[in-house]
Amino acid sequence: MSTRYDAVIVGAGVAGSTCAILLAQAGWAVALVEKQAFPRRKVCGECIAASNLGLINALGIGEKFRALAGTPLRRVAWCAGDTMIEAPLPQLAGTQQPWGSALGREHLDTLLLERARELGATILQPCSVHSVDQFEDQHRCTTIDPAGNALVIEAGVLIDAHGSWQRGPFTDQDSSRPPCASDLFAFKANYSSAQLPEGVLPVLAFAGGYGGMVQGDHGLLTLACCIRRDRLHRWRKKHPGLAAGEAVQKLLEQEIRVVRETLRGAHREGAWLAVGPIRPRIRSARRAAGMFAVGNAAGEAHPILGEGISMAMQSAFLLCERLAGSSTTTDYATAWHRAFAPRIRLASLYAHIAMHPMANRAVLPLLRRWPGLLSIGARLGGKVRCVVDAGKLAGTITRE
Ligand SMILES: Cc1cc2nc3c(=O)[nH]c(=O)nc-3n(C[C@H](O)[C@H](O)[C@H](O)COP(=O)(O)OP(=O)(O)OC[C@H]3O[C@@H](n4cnc5c(N)ncnc54)[C@H](O)[C@@H]3O)c2cc1C
Repeated sequence: MSTRYDAVIVGAGVAGSTCAILLAQAGWAVALVEKQAFPRRKVCGECIAASNLGLINALGIGEKFRALAGTPLRRVAWCAGDTMIEAPLPQLAGTQQPWGSALGREHLDTLLLERARELGATILQPCSVHSVDQFEDQHRCTTIDPAGNALVIEAGVLIDAHGSWQRGPFTDQDSSRPPCASDLFAFKANYSSAQLPEGVLPVLAFAGGYGGMVQGDHGLLTLACCIRRDRLHRWRKKHPGLAAGEAVQKLLEQEIRVVRETLRGAHREGAWLAVGPIRPRIRSARRAAGMFAVGNAAGEAHPILGEGISMAMQSAFLLCERLAGSSTTTDYATAWHRAFAPRIRLASLYAHIAMHPMANRAVLPLLRRWPGLLSIGARLGGKVRCVVDAGKLAGTITRE
């Protein structure tokens, strides 16, 4: 196996595999390194905004995506206590796919990875990038497979797409902060036979957390949420003996009517998954000469917005069009900041409204009177905004 590539990509989530597809399409020799075996379930709400469907087509997985994904998401609802306020989700203009839909990450990430493989990317999986260093103009990555075998691979371009929830090999990482009450833990579970009205995307607001539910592939419901450490701790003390995920489900069912009704008679498929603490914030899109970050590694929005997949895919396009020389107007870091920093700030505002009972109480009368504010909120959050022109891009990324 070759040990020298044009680009090494660390992590085959949506961001990393999107980069691998685009660079392989442009004729680059690419190595994509992923520590987990696929398919794998992942903590995620799994909603894919309408703004990404063009990108998914451009990546060559559109047909397979449409065959698997859940029904179009046409309405959003704000759900707190016994209240549920609904409004239409904004539609993407000028397309046959005006609404987003949901697809399990075990499917989406596998489709993208297999597409990268098909285009000639070298896939090292399961294999973890253990350390990176620089030698002249080459980045050297030491990878380790599950049997403990080490392999050093080199490339002029190194792309950090390892997400933000696991410690990685990069120096510019979230330092290990001491635990604090406001730390957020993220949970996800899938259910069959759930009773969610078709095409609705409920956003769940409760003291100390927020979440969402969606009907995805194979009729499975995804329930995902974030909860503060202090709230989780107090709740689990009141309910000893319950595993964390089960305690979270009990809390959601007790506090939010729509969760109770949706899960009545539902059957959980697979285990609860959890990660955390998650630290939504702007990180850095360019690390050093020839070293870039995409997806959560570059910056992470509070998941209440359900825009992490969009930001991961779109940041990959922003980077690869520049690496392959088809866009030179602004550098990647500037373009990234312009495109995503406002979304990250807005998501933080929404998250705090949802988590703080007083803010939530203040917002409910406004939403009752003007439910259209929800549609505006979704539009501002990026649901129908794509920062790259997928149609133009598909054919223009070529080797410099
Ligand atoms: C509760 C919750 C709900 C969410 N809901 C939604 C939603 O509905 N819609 C949406 O768009 N977004 C949602 N998100 C956000 C979304 O999940 C993330 O933003 C998205 O997964 C980021 O993609 P990524 O490719 O940057 O990173 P990831 O998807 O995290 O992928 C990183 C990959 O890198 C691999 N990796 C890590 N370290 C190494 C290493 N050292 N070597 C090799 N490989 C490595 C990992 O195994 C992983 O496969 C949600 C997030 C949470 C927490």
